[in-house]
Amino acid sequence: MAFVVKKTISGNDYYYLNENNRIDGKVKTKTIAYLGKVKKEAKKKAEEIIRKMDKEKKKKIIQIGRVGELEKVNISIDDMAAFCKRKGFVYPSAEIYGGMAGFWDYGPFGVEMKNNLKNDWWKFHVHGRDDIVGIDGSIITNPKVWKASGHEENFNDVLVICKKCKKLGKVDKHEIGKVKCINCNGEYDWGSVKEIEQMFKIKVGLDGFSYLRPETAQLIFTNFKFVQENARLKLPFGIAQIGKAFRNENAPRDFIFRDREIEQMEIEYIGDTNEKYPYKIGNTVILI
Ligand SMILES: [Zn+2]
Repeated sequence: MAFVVKKTISGNDYYYLNENNRIDGKVKTKTIAYLGKVKKEAKKKAEEIIRKMDKEKKKKIIQIGRVGELEKVNISIDDMAAFCKRKGFVYPSAEIYGGMAGFWDYGPFGVEMKNNLKNDWWKFHVHGRDDIVGIDGSIITNPKVWKASGHEENFNDVLVICKKCKKLGKVDKHEIGKVKCINCNGEYDWGSVKEIEQMFKIKVGLDGFSYLRPETAQLIFTNFKFVQENARLKLPFGIAQIGKAFRNENAPRDFIFRDREIEQMEIEYIGDTNEKYPYKIGNTVILI
């Protein structure tokens, strides 16, 4: 806090603006400005300087807040969701109709951030290399793909209720009848087992069906031969894809961390399993 002091030297009054600061636990006084010899003018000058100093201080606080280096704030995932909504990054999908669990809409800033991420990723991993090319496969494809990949049979959530704490648990198929509640170690009610398909089944045409793809990898595999020929690639090489995938989560939660509609950035790097290949990421080389 700054304050005005008067010093009398050889019968003359001199006014100064001083400030006390605590440095290493001790209060130290520093002269900020000389204010002249007249009390009234000195007061006016002092007020002006203090006003300017306050403005500078306020600016500093805002800058600190922006950089976020000096202030560590712990926020909950709900706070984060509220922040992202308020600032135009992510909204609950169709919130005016009550939204829908597991689905989100990206606002003006959210879509820019997402596009920047995707563009940078593509530039670095695809355009920046000779051994990786991209594809953009369709979201709905022949359901035989999902039969061959094992998704149709195995991509299910197995839900079961605990007899003791009544909480819903998730187990693997091969664990049925063999495991105990992870919450209270009680017995599961194996009669209540429910299997929920994680793939969204959809109608196609009059009586056809398929699924919304649950991952981006499969169309990379099905197009492998074409891509290798068209891009004239030799093993090892990679195929990249960015796109939407869908999972029928039983309990979507944690904001955008457990969704029913997601966007993936994926590379399948293909080589002879009997060999190790050096794979360069920036300046780092790993053996895969
Ligand atoms: Zn339990």
